[in-house]
Amino acid sequence: MKFDIISIFPDSFQSYFSSSIISRAQKSKKISIYLHDLRDWADDRRKTVDDKPYGGGPGMVLKVEPIYKAIKSLCKGFRVKDSRFKKNPKSKIRNLKSRIILLSAKGKLFTQKEAERLKKYKQLVLIAGHYEGVDERVAKFLAQEELSIGKYVLTGGELPAMVVVDAVSRLIPGVLGKQESLANESFSSKDYLEYPQYTRPEIFRASGIRHPKSGIWQVPKILLSGDHKKISLWRERNAKILKKEKET
Ligand code: SAM
Repeated sequence: MKFDIISIFPDSFQSYFSSSIISRAQKSKKISIYLHDLRDWADDRRKTVDDKPYGGGPGMVLKVEPIYKAIKSLCKGFRVKDSRFKKNPKSKIRNLKSRIILLSAKGKLFTQKEAERLKKYKQLVLIAGHYEGVDERVAKFLAQEELSIGKYVLTGGELPAMVVVDAVSRLIPGVLGKQESLANESFSSKDYLEYPQYTRPEIFRASGIRHPKSGIWQVPKILLSGDHKKISLWRERNAKILKKEKET
């Protein structure tokens, strides 16, 4: 899987992508991440990529031309008419190789299911907006879909792009140390939430709590029993309890 990220702040990705699992996944060539500075496709000396909105209003809008050039240079065989797939989501996607995604607060909510869908592509091109947003022609004619990571507005599409890269990457075989980590994870099936997890110490004593007994935090005894059948039933039951609690 190859990720191409178009942003006006490509440096902001470095620290996250160069640590932990995402860094290892790149080193082992399970994924590759290319950060592109949108200004590289600007054609004036000042590298302008934004302008005032037509019709007035606050802030600046990212221009369509540099994004168009970026897409043309990053997506082999890109033709504008490919965006027809966006208009009719039920139409058969013939080209599962590459997907052009605009990060947008107005987009479709990015969920685990969407991550599962996107892992099938060979290349994801992620366009991170900034300022007041992106010229609508990018959503209309270039991007094949718009994704939002939640119902709130961030200053830019950089964090959303990182979220998509992370959630999709960990689904790619070999990226996680143990593939079974994915099996009973939250959202691995519809609305499922993972059972509670504990690690050592068996008893933690929190200091400075007025009632000494409420400062003794114990791991549920069943998890120490070594009885795998009982542990598995306990986990199943507690996953259900957790789900109910979250629903209310
Ligand atoms: N004026 C826009 C609006 O009201 O919807 C918000 C623009 S926001 C300040 C700038 C950029 O951040 C957007 O173009 C988008 O790329 C990104 N962004 C902000 N919130 C986002 C979210 N929840 N999901 C995905 N991208 C988001």
